[in-house]
Amino acid sequence: MSDCIFCKIVAGSIPSNKVYEDDEVLAFHDINPTAPVHVLIIPKKHIATTLDFAPEEDDRLVGKLVTTATRLARELGIDQSGFRLVFNTHHDGGQEVYHVHLHLLGGREFTWPAG
Ligand code: 5GP
Repeated sequence: MSDCIFCKIVAGSIPSNKVYEDDEVLAFHDINPTAPVHVLIIPKKHIATTLDFAPEEDDRLVGKLVTTATRLARELGIDQSGFRLVFNTHHDGGQEVYHVHLHLLGGREFTWPAG
């Protein structure tokens, strides 16, 4: 989508600090990190929200977002201390960017319930 900031990051027209890329997914450091490790893992194709994942068609892609995140957690050294994976959806979920992204957060202790 031409007006989507994360599609522009995928296209390279907006720079990002990439940590992983293949033909389906891209991972990059959040521009405004809320933890010592704050990486966003996104599908390269535009999907607005988690509600727009197509059952069956996107099942493998959704799994890949998660397995990419856990692999990066190991590589970034937060697998033993722990981390949090978050998909925010719509207003009450705190979604600001309407291109699905999985937050990988770690390097500090988080509280529960989420605020
Ligand atoms: P949301 O609130 O939609 O779940 O999270 C969006 C995230 O994208 C926020 O943590 C925000 O800091 C991050 N973000 C927004 N614009 C950019 C950008 O241009 N580059 C990067 N790297 N992160 C961004």
